[in-house]
Amino acid sequence: MLVLKGAQLIDGTGGNPIKDAAIVIDGKRIKQVGVAGQVDYPADAQVIDMAGCTLMPGMTDCHVHLMAQNVLSFHNPRVAAFEVTPEMYQMYGLLHAQMMFEMGFTTIRDLGWIVYSGVLTKQMLAVREAINYGLIAGPRLLVAGWAVNTGSHLDIILIGNAPRNLAEYGDSPWELRKQVRTNLRMHCDLIKTCASGGGGTDKESPDIRNMTQEELNAIVEESHYFRKPVSCHCFTPEAQKMSVLAGVDTIEHCVFTDDEALDMMKEANKPVIPTLQHRSDRAIECRRRVGTSQFTLDKMKGLQPFTKETFMRLHRKGIKIAMGTDMQIDAEMASNAHELEIYVNYGMTPMEAILTTTKNAAEALWLDKDLGTLEAGKLADVLVVDGNPLDDIKILQERQKIRMVMKEGRVFVDRRAGQEKYVIHDQSWGWKIF
Ligand SMILES: [Zn+2]
Repeated sequence: MLVLKGAQLIDGTGGNPIKDAAIVIDGKRIKQVGVAGQVDYPADAQVIDMAGCTLMPGMTDCHVHLMAQNVLSFHNPRVAAFEVTPEMYQMYGLLHAQMMFEMGFTTIRDLGWIVYSGVLTKQMLAVREAINYGLIAGPRLLVAGWAVNTGSHLDIILIGNAPRNLAEYGDSPWELRKQVRTNLRMHCDLIKTCASGGGGTDKESPDIRNMTQEELNAIVEESHYFRKPVSCHCFTPEAQKMSVLAGVDTIEHCVFTDDEALDMMKEANKPVIPTLQHRSDRAIECRRRVGTSQFTLDKMKGLQPFTKETFMRLHRKGIKIAMGTDMQIDAEMASNAHELEIYVNYGMTPMEAILTTTKNAAEALWLDKDLGTLEAGKLADVLVVDGNPLDDIKILQERQKIRMVMKEGRVFVDRRAGQEKYVIHDQSWGWKIF
C-alpha cells in the first residue's frame, strides 16, 4: 500500500481543494482520499511526504497525432514526409507518447496519421499494445486509426497529385460502414471522422464538405453498434449540427459556430475539444522553424480570432469542454499543457481548465467509471506537481515541476532528489537535426 500525503489535493470533481491531504493507494486503485490524519492505512504502508506539492488526476489530451514526422529530427516536413519509413514513424509515435507521459499525461487519445505509403494505424496500435502488455512504459493510449471519411478535410487535404486510395476513403453509407468495421476489427478504440473542411488545404474553404447526413449517420450507427465512440472534426456550425443529429460523441475544433449550433450542442450535452494550441503563436513559430510556408502560417494566424470568440461562447454557454491540443508537426510535443494556459487566458478559472483535462476528458472518452477524478475505487492515475496550479496554471508545462507521475498505482516518473526515475532520459541527449 502506498500513501501520498502532506500535499494539496485537487480531486478533479470541481470541489474545493483539500489543503493537507492524503491519498491511499492499494494496488491499481485508490482506496481512500481525505484530510491527512483522518485516513487509515496499515503501519507498513509506504508513506511519501509531498509537502508543497499538489496532487491531481493524471492529465488527458483528447486530440493528438503522435506519429507526426519530423517533430524532433527534421527541419522540413515536406522532405521528411517522403524520407521517414512507416517503421520510423512508429518510433516517433512511441517517443512522443513517452514524452507526454513524462509531463503528466497518463491518457492520450491518438487520432491517426497518414503518409505517402498509406495509413499508420497498425503501427500506433502496436505501440498501444506494447504498453498494455508491459513491454515498454507509456501512457494509456486510445487509438482511432485513420479517419473514416469522404470529401471533407482529410480527403481534400491530399488533393492533387496524391492518389485517392479507395482503401482509405469511402463514398456511400455502406463503403463508410465497411471502413468502420475494418478499423474496429483491427481493435481501434474509437472512430474518427470529418464533417467539414479544415485549415490545412491551400485553396478550399473550411466550409467545404461532401459527406451527407446519411453517410455520417451510418458511421456513427455502425460504431455505436460496436460500443465505440465517434470523434468528429467540425470547423463549421453546419458540421456541428450534422454531428449532433448523427449522435457523434466528441466535436473537435469548433473554429466557427452560430447560436443554433451552440444550442444543439448544449442540449445534446456534447463535449467540444477546442484544440487552440494548434493555432497559437507558439505553434506558428514552431511551424516556421520547420519550414512551413508563409501561406499556411498566415492561415493559422487568421483563424485565431475565430477560435477565441468561439471558445468564449462555448464557455459562457456552459458547454462541456474537454482538453485537446491537435499537437502534431508543431515540434513541441510534451508541452501540451500550454492548451490550459490558453483556456485561462480566454476566461476559464484555473480549476475549470484543470477539469477539462481530467473529469471532462474522462467523460468525453467514456472512461469516467475508472478515471478523471481522485476518488475511492478509481484507478490511481496521479500527477504530483511542485506548487499550486490554481495560482499559476503554467507550472503544468514546467518539466522540473512535474514531480511524480503514477499510472494505475505504479510510479513511472519521480523527480524527488535521490529518487530519480524516468521513462525516457530526463533531458534531450542530442537528437540529430537533419
Ligand atoms: Zn487533428
